[in-house]
Amino acid sequence: MRDTDRALVQAATAVAKLRCRSENHTVAAAARTADGRVFTGVNVYHFTGGPCAEVVAVGAAATQGVTELETIVAVGDRGRGVIPPCGRCRQVLRDYFPSIRVIVGPADALRVVPIGDLLPDTYVWADHQVDAPAGPVPTPRPHD
Ligand SMILES: [Zn+2]
Repeated sequence: MRDTDRALVQAATAVAKLRCRSENHTVAAAARTADGRVFTGVNVYHFTGGPCAEVVAVGAAATQGVTELETIVAVGDRGRGVIPPCGRCRQVLRDYFPSIRVIVGPADALRVVPIGDLLPDTYVWADHQVDAPAGPVPTPRPHD
């Protein structure tokens, strides 16, 4: 853990305390760029499948034109501390930022792990796309 990693946990913790005060928002995330910019977000709970805080933080960064993130952490409300990313977020983070670092672990033993360690042998969508057939797409003929 670097000082900047501890600062990122503090940023997410501050957002969790300040903004996670209802059942709609229960987790905060903070993500940092290599040059030190920090973006935060909270989850948007909804029974239809609202996004986790990590995904909202990724969107907040993208809103500012940032498409490379170095480290991310999520923190729960009511003093729950650091929360590891769910399976969906692991896949999103792995696909968007293959080398992103994720802060996980209990408060007294926080550690930073590469996203690949949280999702070994993962499915990589781009690796499994069959090339489109060469040449023009055949024009359907009437009455075939
Ligand atoms: Zn998630």
